[in-house]
Amino acid sequence: MELNDRESPMNNAFDLVVAGGGAAGFFGAIACAEAAPRARVVILEGAREVLGKVKISGGGRCNVTHACFDPRELIARYPRGSQQLIGPFHRWGPADTMDWFETRGVPLKTEGDGRVFPVSDDSQSIIDCLTRAARDAGVTVRTSTAVEDVTANPEGGFDVALTGGERLRAGKVLLTTGGTRNRIGADIAEKLGHRVLPAAPSLFTFKIDDPRIEGLQGLSVANARVGVAFPGSDLHIVIGGAPVLVTHWGLSGPAILRTSAEGAREMQGCDYRFEIDVNWCGERDEKAIIAEFDRCRVESPRRAIVNDPRFDIPARLWKRLVAAAAAGEDLRWAQLPRETARALAQQLGECRFAVDGKSMNKDEFVTCGGVHLGDVNFKTMESRVVAGLHFAGEVLDIDGVTGGFNFQSAWTTGKIAGGAAAESG
Ligand SMILES: Cc1cc2nc3c(=O)[nH]c(=O)nc-3n(C[C@H](O)[C@H](O)[C@H](O)COP(=O)(O)OP(=O)(O)OC[C@H]3O[C@@H](n4cnc5c(N)ncnc54)[C@H](O)[C@@H]3O)c2cc1C
Repeated sequence: MELNDRESPMNNAFDLVVAGGGAAGFFGAIACAEAAPRARVVILEGAREVLGKVKISGGGRCNVTHACFDPRELIARYPRGSQQLIGPFHRWGPADTMDWFETRGVPLKTEGDGRVFPVSDDSQSIIDCLTRAARDAGVTVRTSTAVEDVTANPEGGFDVALTGGERLRAGKVLLTTGGTRNRIGADIAEKLGHRVLPAAPSLFTFKIDDPRIEGLQGLSVANARVGVAFPGSDLHIVIGGAPVLVTHWGLSGPAILRTSAEGAREMQGCDYRFEIDVNWCGERDEKAIIAEFDRCRVESPRRAIVNDPRFDIPARLWKRLVAAAAAGEDLRWAQLPRETARALAQQLGECRFAVDGKSMNKDEFVTCGGVHLGDVNFKTMESRVVAGLHFAGEVLDIDGVTGGFNFQSAWTTGKIAGGAAAESG
């Protein structure tokens, strides 16, 4: 397909129409316009402002990406899409994203846990950079302009119907309408012959009503392990070596959020009612926990157990767990009966909670589900069903855990889609 001259008199015809002005849409549009400077590229955004999610992301700071530079390690952070993303991450990974923003005047910083933010701690820096780059590349941006339908023409190219009745002609279309809770992107893809997996929330916290954690909000255990099994399913999720945070709702923190992402479909299937086991002592099993008790019997025999927290467990949580094991307030290490030791080891290493609902994580949440990855060629992000139609970002059945991974997949797939759309053919 020949790319039109930008000066074309037809102001309703574009070489590339990008449906959705979010992270993936902007990266795609900029990549296309920079690779093919004569191409007419338009971003159509249904909302009044572009990049709405970037604005609120990361608590207003925008966690742009994650400092994980090995594609093999990186894909492990994607419960859905990991196999398909390995090639794309070799071509455009977090280092490329960081370089892209920094060379365009947005200094970035990497926090201790690997999350990358603008030094300004303000998501507006990212928005300003993307809108400036789009403008400099000659991309047209239309807001309050929602795409209602996309039809593939038998002779090639597309008709794009907008709300209000306006129609545009497009040589190619990039669909970046975001998570498919908003059905429109899914409906367009489905109507064009693609399989779409149903939407399910990912990255949520667990609602738990339990006296062992009641009133302990704000308290966290840095190195915990969370396990969950679902009746009638082979899926057994274990997330270790990550923090668990007590909230006024129940439990949150990276270990819980990662568990929610891994089990997003199954948890939706059981209406968010299931049981989890928390090991507050990290990877230690019952034998290792009891061995520590035995050391305490020798090294601090007269110390009251309730006042002698172990395994870096915060004192207030330790007290609750000791009480739940029915170890009296006066009980000392030297007096700890074998039965009580086992009960305490269970509270510490296999602390079972009944989850009764979910609440969204306020800093970052995403939807799993979307366009079936088998219907997309990940070398170009082009549909395998309709030539000239590309997909990027959360409209695909790809989602990552918390920490900047969701934006990274949006940047990567957007970049590849835009670059491929710029090529004639
Ligand atoms: C509160 C919150 C905080 C987050 N924080 C982070 C974070 O710090 N780091 C991270 O990696 N991820 C974060 N995420 C996830 C991240 O925002 C998404 O994964 C990412 O925005 C997906 O990019 P996208 O371009 O595919 O979709 P979106 O950013 O959702 O963009 C899609 C755009 O398409 C528009 N649109 C939809 N339908 C139409 C239509 N029919 N016509 C025209 N336009 C349409 C929408 O209005 C939207 O602007 C956060 C998410 C939330 C909700």
